[in-house]
Amino acid sequence: MPVLRVALDLPLHRLFEYRADDASTADVGLRVRVPFGRGEKIGVIVEVVAEGEWPLDQLKPAGPVLRDAAPLPADFFELCRFASAYYQAPLGEVVLQALPKGLKQLDPPARRAGRAAKPPRPLPPPALTAEQATAIDAVDIEGGYSAHLLFGVTGSGKTEVYLRLVERCLAAGHQVLLLVPEINLTPQLEERVSARFPETRVVSLHSELAEAARERHWRAAASGEAAIVLGTRLAIFTPMPRLGLIIVDEEHDASFKQQDGMRYSARDVAVVRARQNAIPVLLGSATPSLETWANARGGRYGLLTLRERANREATLPAVDLVDTRKMVLREGVSPPLADAIRVRLERGEQSLVFLNRRGYAPVLACPACGWVSRCKRCAANLVLHLADRRLRCHHCGFEHGVPRACPTCGNQDIHPFGRGTQRLEAWLGEAFPEARILRVDRDSVKSRKQWESVLERIHGGEADILVGTQMLAKGHDFPKLTLVGVLGADSALFAADWRAPERLFAQLMQVAGRAGRAELKGEVLIQTQYPDHPLFASLVGHDYEGFAAGQLKEREQAGFPPYAFQAVLRAEAPEMAAAIDFLTAAAALPEASGQNDVAIYDPVPMRMARLANLERGQLLVESYSRPALQAFLPRWRAAIEALKAPSRLRWHLEVDPLEL
Ligand code: ADP
Ligand code: ZN
Ligand code: ZN
Repeated sequence: MPVLRVALDLPLHRLFEYRADDASTADVGLRVRVPFGRGEKIGVIVEVVAEGEWPLDQLKPAGPVLRDAAPLPADFFELCRFASAYYQAPLGEVVLQALPKGLKQLDPPARRAGRAAKPPRPLPPPALTAEQATAIDAVDIEGGYSAHLLFGVTGSGKTEVYLRLVERCLAAGHQVLLLVPEINLTPQLEERVSARFPETRVVSLHSELAEAARERHWRAAASGEAAIVLGTRLAIFTPMPRLGLIIVDEEHDASFKQQDGMRYSARDVAVVRARQNAIPVLLGSATPSLETWANARGGRYGLLTLRERANREATLPAVDLVDTRKMVLREGVSPPLADAIRVRLERGEQSLVFLNRRGYAPVLACPACGWVSRCKRCAANLVLHLADRRLRCHHCGFEHGVPRACPTCGNQDIHPFGRGTQRLEAWLGEAFPEARILRVDRDSVKSRKQWESVLERIHGGEADILVGTQMLAKGHDFPKLTLVGVLGADSALFAADWRAPERLFAQLMQVAGRAGRAELKGEVLIQTQYPDHPLFASLVGHDYEGFAAGQLKEREQAGFPPYAFQAVLRAEAPEMAAAIDFLTAAAALPEASGQNDVAIYDPVPMRMARLANLERGQLLVESYSRPALQAFLPRWRAAIEALKAPSRLRWHLEVDPLEL
């Protein structure tokens, strides 16, 4: 009698076996209802075997096999097996996280047919620049696996390269998967893709979609009916029977990294998937991650460069530093920046003032006794939000009203310290009373709808000065925007996190790229007290390559990634001692001792040691060899799973962590 080996969404590194009288290997990849404990679960059939690991008479019979969706294909399982092994995540969790909710529910809601969106008017494609043509020809759609980095400044026409490759791929009868960092920030891209391919079904997959739509889109991708799938990181696991090309736009973006559950990098999984499926993958960025850059420099990836902006009239913006050491600032704004804004107002152009800190002020404090507004649950300050008069923790969401007097000493004269976008907005309103000011951050723009209306207002010229966080930095064309002012960049220069310079550089390049995308010449003013810092010199020279070379050299000397491979074991508990004890025990396991190729560091509290009432510690493991680390991790993980942990302690392993 056949035995089903079934993946269930459980934190256990094994498959579950059930008897099934009439099952055959053709059922692999189908969902099945199975008894579990006192209830039932939906699982996925991974194998159908004549004999399982358990005696047949101990197995329960499986429930009905569900045939309303096509079986998950072999390459889907191959990808899930890789992710499970590489990221130390149970196969069942990996397989089930890839399915839309409706396919995992015992009693799914009835399915409704969606309305197909009306295709927008097709646009004639522009004639390619020589650089674009070279890049496109370098990617051989039918040539098996290849990986390329498309390295091009903002506005150099990377998207046009994607579209031409998509076109070739569609002509060859394949599907394309296009990954983008945050889909609610890129309705423009969706429109652009649909406009170029009006005859092709394009679906999106991201977390803001309603469940029903997400399921519909997933099914369209999985059946092969949708030839273009536009998605965020979660889309990398979508089954696509005719997949012929994967594109990862803004490949350096941190949002490709999943930060809970299975902590995977969708960018890295995309490269593995391309290799497994023997298809090309294209990673695009103006500021590639240093990992990708090292791969391209080292010849593992092809390097395709777009040096010029595609639109001839649009030149790169002039980037200048404003040395604020000897200046009197008003609410953080220097006189040269204020003058530059005034000039834009007179000319009827737009300015953007960038400050990557939302709220009114990062903290409220009492000068008399030293009280500061701290979160009760986290090692963090409560941020003052004057718009709705709340103190808010940006880490755990805790909030309460703004006190009238110091809660410790009763002093009525408590002050906000520092500055966020709300405070900047208020001051700009006073300094430029005639200007229409629009603040764009996660407090003012909460949904995709609001975002679309903000974009419309900016494009319609309804705003003169934009005040915003990194939300505004990403990939938008604002033709009338000719000035970008950057405030508060210095705080990231000397951060303890050695990846901070990489992130700062990418962010500033990106925000600088907003200026002067059309005919109007752009100007970028970066305020700093460290005008001699090499990072700024690279920015002024638009010199990513110089910056990357310097960073890679430092990392090589320090033995950091990409010259070393890391994993981190984290534990959180109500008491730090419990977390550290657990990590110490993990480090002392026999599986962890006598390692020649893998270094195991001491447990330490995390940089933000307390989050939402839990104390957090971590233990770094590192190797100069990825295979050595990969050989070590499963043995160690299994031994950790066998450790006795206090009941309120939770732990996880993260491979290739981005933040330590
Ligand atoms: P990126 O994705 O690199 O930021 P885009 O592909 O969005 O750049 O191109 C920037 C602008 O240049 C867009 O307005 C696009 O329509 C235009 N563009 C792209 N390629 C060409 C080309 N070959 N000729 C003229 N304009 C182009
Ligand atoms: Zn006080
Ligand atoms: Zn908090």
